[in-house]
Amino acid sequence: MTAGWAEVGDRVFVRRHRELDLNCGLVVGEGSCLVVDTRSHLGEGRALAEAVRAVTPHPWTVVNTHAHYDHCFGNAAFRPAAIWAHRDCAAELDGTGEHQRASVVAALLADGDPAAELVATAPIDPPDHLVGSAAVLDVGGRAVSLSHLGRGHTGGDLVVAVDDVLFAGDLVEEGAPPAMDDGFPLDWPGTLTALAGLVRGPVVPGHGAVVDAAFVAAQRDELARLARWLTEPGAAPAFDERTRTVALARVGVLP
Ligand SMILES: [Zn+2]
Repeated sequence: MTAGWAEVGDRVFVRRHRELDLNCGLVVGEGSCLVVDTRSHLGEGRALAEAVRAVTPHPWTVVNTHAHYDHCFGNAAFRPAAIWAHRDCAAELDGTGEHQRASVVAALLADGDPAAELVATAPIDPPDHLVGSAAVLDVGGRAVSLSHLGRGHTGGDLVVAVDDVLFAGDLVEEGAPPAMDDGFPLDWPGTLTALAGLVRGPVVPGHGAVVDAAFVAAQRDELARLARWLTEPGAAPAFDERTRTVALARVGVLP
């Protein structure tokens, strides 16, 4: 497939990036298309938009799966299109966007990564079409459902389903443990159980290789083990020590 896209369903594409091993999605209908997540800064967003143009000339709509910079700091490259997200995603981006920027830029500078300048100057362009629990978009005659299944990786994760393909955002992570920093470790297993109920075929995680129902079930089970470890004295540990430490801190501060 052209421009780095892999077709995982009928006119449903995934583009897996070297940067952060991030996945973006593309759904192509008759006369319109949908882009899932927009990368970390305006330059990456523009490169993604150009890659979309290698597949289809149709106008796009955008979905952000959640408020982390690597999924939405490229939004401005897709304007004036509508950008959909969960309502808490928009609020989180509003509340944490500059803080995210500061910590990412500091980390990139420490690594001598020239992307620091690009993240430092990325316009933060929040989603403006907001979803409560669910919405169905008509993408050129194709029904694309957006669902919020509960708190998990953040307070405002959306999953995107079209035909038998599910874009899970960072509720599912391949190649690294699920990121807990803004997560809800006690809610996440139940949210993944709901997500598992929607799986009909390929599941595109926010980062890493495309996975399947068995992978999602295994990640749900390990998240459930983590929740037990967090709440029951003597329960067996799950994931690595850093993930457990962050999860413990999150449980300590959450209502
Ligand atoms: Zn994330």
